[in-house]
Amino acid sequence: MEMIDLRSDTVTQPTEAMRRAMAEAPVGDDVYGEDPSVNRLQEKAADLLRKEAALFVPSGTMGNLASIMAHCDRGDEVILGKYSHTYLFEGGGISALGGIHSCQIPNQVDGSLDLEDIRTAIRSNDDHQPVTRLIALENTHNRCGGAVLTAEYIRNVSQLAKAHGLRLHLDGARLFNAAVALNVPAYDLVEAVDSVTFCLSKALCAPVGSVICGSNEFIKRAHRIRKQLGGGMRQAGILAAAGIVALDTMIDRLADDHARAHKLAQGLSRLPGVMLPLGFPQSNMVFPEIASHVPLTAAEMKKGLFKNGILIGAVGARRMRLVTHYWINDSMIDQTIDAFKTMLMSVS
Ligand SMILES: *Cc1c(COP(=O)(O)O)cnc(C)c1O
Repeated sequence: MEMIDLRSDTVTQPTEAMRRAMAEAPVGDDVYGEDPSVNRLQEKAADLLRKEAALFVPSGTMGNLASIMAHCDRGDEVILGKYSHTYLFEGGGISALGGIHSCQIPNQVDGSLDLEDIRTAIRSNDDHQPVTRLIALENTHNRCGGAVLTAEYIRNVSQLAKAHGLRLHLDGARLFNAAVALNVPAYDLVEAVDSVTFCLSKALCAPVGSVICGSNEFIKRAHRIRKQLGGGMRQAGILAAAGIVALDTMIDRLADDHARAHKLAQGLSRLPGVMLPLGFPQSNMVFPEIASHVPLTAAEMKKGLFKNGILIGAVGARRMRLVTHYWINDSMIDQTIDAFKTMLMSVS
């Protein structure tokens, strides 16, 4: 049985074109800066986002860590969301490895940080307090249901940052999903930030890797930190080659994933006992919830769906996560809605 894997867009396998590009990639020692495929990927990413320079890193986690360490000294503070991936899901690396203090403020339901909350969190010049150095945003916002931040909002945060001499980092693991959802070029969403990380290994289908973009000076610092973190890779062009295919061919088609997420959400919302948050999905993530009167938990739904060859995430007692991606087609969406329906009918 072919599994329908909706747990995440990280499960995406490389495409045929990627496998070919990887097999044929010209490579060299990237620690010497001599891998032509890595260099090409980095140039392409910097051009695409209209930043001076880019750096290929093994993961989004390392991208955020190296970026935040490049902006902050030990003991400095970064302001980020309570629901941010960096705060929740990156092993506390900025603290453990960077000695960086975090100030967590609430995320709004749309993934944003309230400007007034940010302003209040900025420290005054006082020896008792850590030095606020950086603000970090996330787009699309994973834990906030794939919520999309607009360029206007990001510019507003940037203005606030500049007014206080702070830098702004964007965790754009799914930056291109945000751009496609808003129908704007991705560079619009990063014009106002000092640095951005995006993942090649999620909806863009590349097997491994993320890219950091920013100024020449910033990338130079991040490059040194990547080495310290053990992220200096040798013939990494094998991986970068898939990333080049991802940037060339996999961005515009994200609209298909978003359309399927909508179709899935619509189908599920018509089932009695299933609730979908208002105003979502905004990108490729669907977070249905089972109403309290239905005698089924998210874990039981997950287990039951698994028996039908459908993999989903259970992210709360009654909340589930389903993510659309390149390897999910229309028929799989229909099968998933049907399987939900069957399970719900079996208990009603
Ligand atoms: C996946 C993800 C990351 C980390 O990327 P990895 O490649 O899994 O380390 C960072 N931020 C967000 C928002 C993510 O969804």
